[in-house]
Amino acid sequence: MPKIKCKKVTWEEVEEWSRIVSDKVYSSGWTPDVVVAISRGGYVPARLVCDRLVVGELVSLQISHWPSAAQMAKEAGVRTPLYCNMGGKKALIVDDIADTGESLIIAKDHVWTNCRPEAIRIASLQWISGSSKIRPDYYAEEVRGWIWYQYPWSRLEDIIGFVKKVVEENPGKELWSIEELIRGVREWYGVEFDRWFFERALDKLASKGFLKRDGDRIIAKV
Ligand code: AMP
Repeated sequence: MPKIKCKKVTWEEVEEWSRIVSDKVYSSGWTPDVVVAISRGGYVPARLVCDRLVVGELVSLQISHWPSAAQMAKEAGVRTPLYCNMGGKKALIVDDIADTGESLIIAKDHVWTNCRPEAIRIASLQWISGSSKIRPDYYAEEVRGWIWYQYPWSRLEDIIGFVKKVVEENPGKELWSIEELIRGVREWYGVEFDRWFFERALDKLASKGFLKRDGDRIIAKV
């Protein structure tokens, strides 16, 4: 059993979930004039929803909440604000997942205050119903229990976080092989990735001084 529940998401699933969300918006009879992507997780779903609903206006604001994969920051906050006039328009805010729901709450409040649209609705691919403080108006999947969704647009970033976690959880072990790290990630998260991602993740962690690479030997510096 993996220690952290993780689901590796495929592009096909992203496509399918975006279509489900778009269909729900479409059949509700509420037509958005503008889509607001929450950066960065909402970018890809928002662009797909725009296309599937034929909405020409797409804007974004950045919110920070989960700086590392499956590890939450204390507080969510607007990192890059959005200032534009949405007077008389209906805005659909799109994100990948509502986990605590704080990003969506902050985004909604921010768009109301700064852009003054006529109406706002919220959409996400996943809604973790047990933890989210807000229920999106439209979602593709209700998730019961907690899972880290490993979306394809944050593959490398997440793997960097996973490798870090595996090394940090073994403070007595200084010397690693790449195979041991791949195995460690599989044991912790129950998912597998191409070796390419591990090579890049190790380069990145080495450049940040978290570890050293000496050929196939990886020396942890924690
Ligand atoms: P939150 O404010 O907790 O609803 O989530 C903020 C953002 O963090 C989401 O839009 C995702 O990009 C990321 N995130 C949070 N929880 C998860 C999760 N369980 N799986 C994947 N990504 C997540």
